[in-house]
Amino acid sequence: MPDTVPVIEIHDLHKAYGDLEVLKGVSLTARAGEVVSLIGSSGSGKSTLLRCANLLEHSQQGEVIFQGEPVTWKGQGPHRRPSNPKQVTRIRTNLSMVFQQFNLWAHMTVLQNVMEAPLTVLHRDRAEVEEKARYYLDKVGIGDKADVYPANMSGGQQQRAAIARALCMEPQALLFDEPTSALDPELEQEVVRVIRALAEEGRTMIIVTHDMQMAADVSDHVIFLHQGLIEEEGTPARVFAMAESERLKTFLNARQ
Ligand code: ADP
Ligand code: MG
Repeated sequence: MPDTVPVIEIHDLHKAYGDLEVLKGVSLTARAGEVVSLIGSSGSGKSTLLRCANLLEHSQQGEVIFQGEPVTWKGQGPHRRPSNPKQVTRIRTNLSMVFQQFNLWAHMTVLQNVMEAPLTVLHRDRAEVEEKARYYLDKVGIGDKADVYPANMSGGQQQRAAIARALCMEPQALLFDEPTSALDPELEQEVVRVIRALAEEGRTMIIVTHDMQMAADVSDHVIFLHQGLIEEEGTPARVFAMAESERLKTFLNARQ
């Protein structure tokens, strides 16, 4: 998709925790309608990259560009921070994150969970938000669970509620961090089906996943991270069937 607008661009990003260099110069672009998957061993920096993209973490060098607008920074190196709080809010609310552990509020019903951020962060009208929330719960197949508390649902239903919550922000892109890793295999497929449907309707997504089948099915572009650097990237056909790097071949062989 070379001629659609990049929703998010990252150029030469560096991030260290103390002496530990976690990202050593990573670049990626997710254009409108594009699905980018990040794969790689545990500890390779996938989650850190997602969190740096929506400014939940502060990178120390390199650029983050949202819809053509570069993040502005103040300070240098480990002291670097985004300088414009409004820009941070705009980027966070437009890049909605779905976590491995769902992170639903236990004291709220599913409907309340889905409505919370549009009401409190975006200050949208309650009736309008409720209508949207019910629409997105239907869309992920749990319209009948609106009044249920998270503890009374399966992991697959909780993760679909978390996806509905992210969708209800009507973000420009969805960022998934291992959305199926905490689920039993039979529940995993419920969530994969939802992600596949979102890809088919042209949502922009960056997906960190250990599920190579899903990455192969839904992605336009796959990035293999190794120790904080991109070791190999390309279309799923190339990365999965014609891997060049020995590290990628070893990684894929271990997951067949
Ligand atoms: P992945 O998601 O690919 O498993 P992460 O991005 O979570 O990798 O972590 C990359 C490296 O950074 C790991 O070595 C991890 O221990 C380290 N790390 C992640 N978060 C922190 C943190 N908040 N403080 C210190 N080290 C961290
Ligand atoms: Mg991770």
